[in-house]
Amino acid sequence: MKKLLIVFSTSILSIAGFLASAQDTLLTERLRTHVEILASDSLEGRGFGTPSKELAIDYILSQYREIGLKPLVNGYQHTFTYSNGGFVVEGKNIIGYIEGSDPFLKNEFILLGAHYDHLGYRLEKTDEKIIYNGADDNASGVASLLEIARIMISNQTSLNRSLLFVAFDGEEVGLLGSEAFVEDNVIDITKIKAMFSLDMVGMYEKKGGLALKGIKSLKKGHELASQAAGEEDLILLGGERQMVMFTDTWPFALAGIPAIHAFTGTKSPYHKPEDDSHLLDYSGMAKITLFMANLLEKLADDESLKVDKGVIRHGTNPVFSLGAGANLGYSRLTFKDEFFESKPGFKAQAGLFAQWKLTGNLILQPGVFYDYFSAETGNGMLRMHAIAPELNLLLTTPNKKEDFFFGYLLAGGYYRYLFAANLKEEKINPGENIYQDEFGIQFGIGVQAMGIQVGLLKKIGLDDMNFPDFDGEIFTRGTCISLSYYF
Ligand SMILES: [Zn+2]
Repeated sequence: MKKLLIVFSTSILSIAGFLASAQDTLLTERLRTHVEILASDSLEGRGFGTPSKELAIDYILSQYREIGLKPLVNGYQHTFTYSNGGFVVEGKNIIGYIEGSDPFLKNEFILLGAHYDHLGYRLEKTDEKIIYNGADDNASGVASLLEIARIMISNQTSLNRSLLFVAFDGEEVGLLGSEAFVEDNVIDITKIKAMFSLDMVGMYEKKGGLALKGIKSLKKGHELASQAAGEEDLILLGGERQMVMFTDTWPFALAGIPAIHAFTGTKSPYHKPEDDSHLLDYSGMAKITLFMANLLEKLADDESLKVDKGVIRHGTNPVFSLGAGANLGYSRLTFKDEFFESKPGFKAQAGLFAQWKLTGNLILQPGVFYDYFSAETGNGMLRMHAIAPELNLLLTTPNKKEDFFFGYLLAGGYYRYLFAANLKEEKINPGENIYQDEFGIQFGIGVQAMGIQVGLLKKIGLDDMNFPDFDGEIFTRGTCISLSYYF
């Protein structure tokens, strides 16, 4: 009897296992079919405003209907216009939803988005069309969105909040669809508790996992995502605090809504004609689909979903950030009351900085450097090694949160502590043969875009170097190109 029971229960287990794996195969094949259709040559790369993109719209509409999503707006389509240089182009977001079952929470939404447009095609001299099929970017995201919707609708009764599914248009041209969605108030956006952009999710295996960038903008986001990842055996990667400006998350993040980019990296031939459907990892996409469905269910049911405003504020307009960089240029000595200067030598600095935004126009920028200085003295080449902390104030053109590009004028001061020096290859002692401490001022001009700062810097030493065998006063000067990056 016991034996029979074991045989019986193992066969039930194996039947259950067989059914589960058959279902996984079905999911994998569905994902493959969506991508093969959306990224096929006949859709000509789904370029914004091109007639062939209508085929993608028709396909997504037919899937929304088949799955049973409800239309939020007439015929699922939110139309917006975009004008550029006299041309007016019409774009379409495709929006469906699943209504939650809780009488109160059903008025709140979790939004799942994926852009369906891509780069279109270009014409070679021979009039041959070179098509950018955009399989990973972003047929992969749309395919996953459709299958997540199918799973969620089969669990509809267990959802408290409502779920919105949006296939965004015009992302590649500059986040047009998501921006229009937020601006047009298609739905009262304060009702959206979190939004996800599935953008490029077809390279799970190659990337070694899935990144949910910005998941910490939702207070319990990381915790719930880790739980779901454990249950679905999915590897989660870092970047939890990072708000992403290169996908549809950005207009939502700027509106203060937790916005998360689901991403498997730029492992595909990114923005190249070779981004084709046969390269994608469909079983990885199936894993991501099941994981996202699991996470959405948790998010839809959790009664206390809260925004982490600090993460969004820092992610969209960081008040404080850390950076690293280098200054390269030349240095020289200037002899007071003499008519000559030294020949210049090589100057290099490498160090760490911070930036603290005081106002929309003022940035305080402290830093600390290793500082190398060289110059020809007349008695041979002088080389000095120092540690140099500095403090700068930057007067900038306005740098608001939408504005990641600004110019600046810099003024500041530095202190230099010499720990080693050589004259003509011979060691000399800071504090005895030459000064040990130096104060100086500096001025600069430059630009900063998306955390990268490039500038020109002029350094003026204020302390006499105190060479014992020289009566006059000697000061240092420096001119550098500065390059730094703020994380
Ligand atoms: Zn994309």
